[in-house]
Amino acid sequence: MLIPGLSGHEGRVRRRLAAEMAGLGLTTTTDRLGNLIATAEGDPSRPSVMLFAHTDQLGFVVRKVEASGFLRLERLGGVPERALAAQELLICVGEGRDIRAVIGNKSHHATSPEEKYRVVPYQEIAVDAGFSSAEAALSAGVKIGSPVVYAPKAIALEGDRIAGTSADDRAGCAVVVEVARLLAPMSQRPTIHFVFSTQEEYNLRGAMPAAQALKPDIAIQLDLMLATDTPDMQARGDLSLGGGPGMSLYSFHGRGTLNGTIPHPALVSLFEDAARDAGVPLQRSAQVGVLTDSSYVQLVHGGVAAIDLGFPCRYTHSALEVCDLSDLVGLAALLVAGISSIEADFSLNRDDYPE
Ligand SMILES: [Zn+2]
Repeated sequence: MLIPGLSGHEGRVRRRLAAEMAGLGLTTTTDRLGNLIATAEGDPSRPSVMLFAHTDQLGFVVRKVEASGFLRLERLGGVPERALAAQELLICVGEGRDIRAVIGNKSHHATSPEEKYRVVPYQEIAVDAGFSSAEAALSAGVKIGSPVVYAPKAIALEGDRIAGTSADDRAGCAVVVEVARLLAPMSQRPTIHFVFSTQEEYNLRGAMPAAQALKPDIAIQLDLMLATDTPDMQARGDLSLGGGPGMSLYSFHGRGTLNGTIPHPALVSLFEDAARDAGVPLQRSAQVGVLTDSSYVQLVHGGVAAIDLGFPCRYTHSALEVCDLSDLVGLAALLVAGISSIEADFSLNRDDYPE
């Protein structure tokens, strides 16, 4: 979470994950979009699996450098404007040269009663990095198009809980690494492609070329699931932080995207059985307004059997997302139990799963 990686600029995250996989003895390749891929060959008679999580995070790019040295931003991904006031940012101009900045919040002493409860649209936000002229900003390396992210943070809360920047989806990436550590040495298992995907927060389609190249039978995507145990989320569902990993039975996003994932019934029953066998509590999620790159991956070639699994997460897309490490441990255990139980006769024929 401390490594910045705006969508389309995931290189630093990718290099770190490549090093983690190399440490497990797994060779990685990178495609032209920046997907990082490691394949652990297994029994070729079993359906192959692509297990993936996205490396990128939402944020901004510099839209304009004002003569005064203030910066204007264009948004990239689902930025919650309500949660932007007075945030610390990081302008990524090059490793070791990144620039810290703040989102200026109008002085409270000058705020009118009408302004007090108004959310400032991102177009109006002025970012203050301390520059007193456009020349100063430019000579520090700030350009139109420079990536900008929330200042990376990681905070240990009470119990097993953590707050941090881009838990979405570095937590998912960490689980993929952990599953690779546990499953790669195993001999009786399917071929598994571990994929760290790109540009999910941007257009959800970065993982597509990886799936097209790998031609998996099964795609398992890991990302956050909306925790609904905060006072403002009670009616949204039944997913609690620390209550175990989650399985999405339905996701859909209609605003512009018009996509979602209804999981393959074979994978729903596979992971229900795996949860029972491994003694892992499995929570269920069904939500409109969320979707992941699995919705596009499932549509390549003759169709890929897909499912979204994940971890409960609070305050999503804000600079400090909260998750529980015990849910990540449970998610890894669920995946190990489920994937290792995929045998050669595992059917992906829908007619074998009567409704
Ligand atoms: Zn995500």
